[in-house]
Amino acid sequence: MARYIGPVCRLCRREKMKLFLKGPKCDSLKCPIERRPYPPGLHGRDRTRQGSEYLAQLREKQKARRIYGVLEKQFRTYYEEANRQQGITGENLLRMLELRLDNVVFRACWGASRAQARQLVRHGHVLVNGRRVTIPSYRLRRADVVSLAPKARNYIVVRHNMDTLGRQVPAWLEVGEEGFEVSVRDLPLREHIDVPVRESLIVELYSK
Ligand code: SF4
Repeated sequence: MARYIGPVCRLCRREKMKLFLKGPKCDSLKCPIERRPYPPGLHGRDRTRQGSEYLAQLREKQKARRIYGVLEKQFRTYYEEANRQQGITGENLLRMLELRLDNVVFRACWGASRAQARQLVRHGHVLVNGRRVTIPSYRLRRADVVSLAPKARNYIVVRHNMDTLGRQVPAWLEVGEEGFEVSVRDLPLREHIDVPVRESLIVELYSK
């Protein structure tokens, strides 16, 4: 599946908030949001748009897409599947995004950003139930066990991330093997998902 390969900091600036797409740089003073907290582009600074309902819905959808690194077509497919499932559509949607393999690798602190986590998956460093899986969008299920391949456990970048990131692994994941393995204890509920997205607006947008 394709992915966005353009500059990512301008995505944060467009949403006027930190989306944490770059790992350590996001917490440093080099983060462009600190210096230029206005939308990118020639007229970004003087853009004074009237906030419409549609605009708010669009921005929430774009924000969710950008946080999880999903392009429009795949995101809509997620929405349609979430809509077919029982329960609250917005929550279903976020749950599916959280259960992506690249997101779980990010949550396990092996990757500093979802993009780096995605690369670890693509390069074959991640196993699911003991078998190599190279599809970042692979959806995990309850009781699945995700582990780092033995070689990758000694990578400096992985070790550095695990030692320095200091992120809390969410409660729906259980950590084992000195942090090199996580298992899906339960499916994530909305309160376990800490992304700053109002999913109800995304549902309103797509259900028009
Ligand atoms: Fe966003 Fe991180 Fe870039 Fe800051 S450094 S603008 S948080 S991606």
